[in-house]
Amino acid sequence: MQILRRANVASTKLLKALTWSPSRLTRCFTEEARDRVRALKPGDKLHGYTVRRVEEVPDFFITAVMLTHDKTGAEHLHAARDDENNTFSVTFRTTPMDSTGVPHILEHTVLCGSEKFPVRDPFFKMLSRSMATFMNALTAYDWTMYPFSSQNEQDFKNLMSVYMDAAFRPLIRELDFCQEGWRLEQTDLTDPSSPITFKGVVYNEMKGVFSNSQSLYMQEALNELLPSHTYGVVSGGDPTHITSLTHEQLRDFHAKHYHPSNARFFTYGHLPLESHLEFINDSLNSFSEIEPSVRVPLEPRWKKPRSKHISCAPDPMAADPEKQHTVSVNFLMSEITDVYENFIASVLGYLLTNGETSPFYQALVESGLGSDYSPNTGFHSETKEAIFAVGLLNVREADVEQVVKIIDETVDKVIEEGFEKTRINALLHQIELSQRHQGGNFGFHLAITLASTWNHEGDPIQSMQVGTILDKFRDDLKQNPRLLQEKVKHYLKVRHELRCLQHQHIEFLTLSMYEGSFIMSRKMLVKSAFFMLSTKFLHVFIS
Ligand SMILES: [Zn+2]
Repeated sequence: MQILRRANVASTKLLKALTWSPSRLTRCFTEEARDRVRALKPGDKLHGYTVRRVEEVPDFFITAVMLTHDKTGAEHLHAARDDENNTFSVTFRTTPMDSTGVPHILEHTVLCGSEKFPVRDPFFKMLSRSMATFMNALTAYDWTMYPFSSQNEQDFKNLMSVYMDAAFRPLIRELDFCQEGWRLEQTDLTDPSSPITFKGVVYNEMKGVFSNSQSLYMQEALNELLPSHTYGVVSGGDPTHITSLTHEQLRDFHAKHYHPSNARFFTYGHLPLESHLEFINDSLNSFSEIEPSVRVPLEPRWKKPRSKHISCAPDPMAADPEKQHTVSVNFLMSEITDVYENFIASVLGYLLTNGETSPFYQALVESGLGSDYSPNTGFHSETKEAIFAVGLLNVREADVEQVVKIIDETVDKVIEEGFEKTRINALLHQIELSQRHQGGNFGFHLAITLASTWNHEGDPIQSMQVGTILDKFRDDLKQNPRLLQEKVKHYLKVRHELRCLQHQHIEFLTLSMYEGSFIMSRKMLVKSAFFMLSTKFLHVFIS
């Protein structure tokens, strides 16, 4: 359905969570839903679950309950809030080790029919029939989520039934794999002599992503900065690798990753927790506990900075054909499970790049060396270790070194001079104000905001305690006025630094050129398979 990339995920996730646009005032005046769960205490048993924690989240008018499913170890977070727009999501840690797009193709394929709903595409049939305010499925770098929101209790139950069956008992038919993943098909189905081409929903989606030079740039920068494990590959799928995925590998990936022991359930709203647990417990009855999928290790730190050159097709619409380079410097920040440190890092990212008075805007964008920030500029916390990147788009080749030099000098200047107090105070004030004005579909936004930290075994409830985080930050800043400067030095004067340069040049191998060469090589592959087969037969015949 949707592939989450840095382009369309909140660039400063925590800050964005705290600064939702005030589209709808959703302050809750009743506390019935919260009062119901306030009676629970750690150790209580509830429909096959054990209550671990019950905690108030005053900033968001939530009472949070953490539970574990006794039989499978599945985790459950319930955010009780007197909001009628209830949300459900189930999220799996999915850590691919190749770029075949297996988590993305699986996310599409499980929605094509399940044991209880063997009809074609039950998910899409529900889209038109349900009263849901939101339905989707999302593939991120290291998790896959199935969320929905609904204001109607019966509809919520029906959707939960469809989602649970899709996730835990999908049919994953070969035909669905060919439709959603990839297949070879004649360009004209009525003409057997027409050329053969690659088709498939995910294949085409990713072809679109990879033909966009800015998406390609962000993807390659991520792969190169965190090369040693799952972030070194393309979770959504690189079209040149998608075509080597088999149906069997897809089924294996499901068996390994879509298991309750590797699942995190989230429910939000005013509907009773007990009925959610009762339903999920019944659905998980046939499973027993297994080892959850592999934890993502920390990236080994480099001894010296690295450089990466990326090629892409030239932009025919570029205002100045001489300015066809994108350059950025990328840094690894804190582990996102360290909620407070991650907050400081996100504040740094914001203060460094946001607004016309920020140091990088003044030094880089106003230098006139490029047209705008590079597409990866900003703070990103969708990987186990957060990233800060800054750079420029549409730069002349001769100016590339100058851009890198300005970035280095700006970092030194910030370490020396710090940030203006008024900017820091304005940001903290903005965060405070936004807590009183939360936008629509709050439950889904909360699910997305907590997903990455929780996925790496961080504490999702701590992530919601905005007031506590802000108080601590203000205190620490009072104690040590150079705190932010020291953090800039700590994170941006390191050796694990990637200088990423993208050239746009005419010789770039486009996907259609690749497709042509691949079809030929596949033909050769088929020929060699025939050869192997015939020699095998020959061998049998002789013996
Ligand atoms: Zn998709």
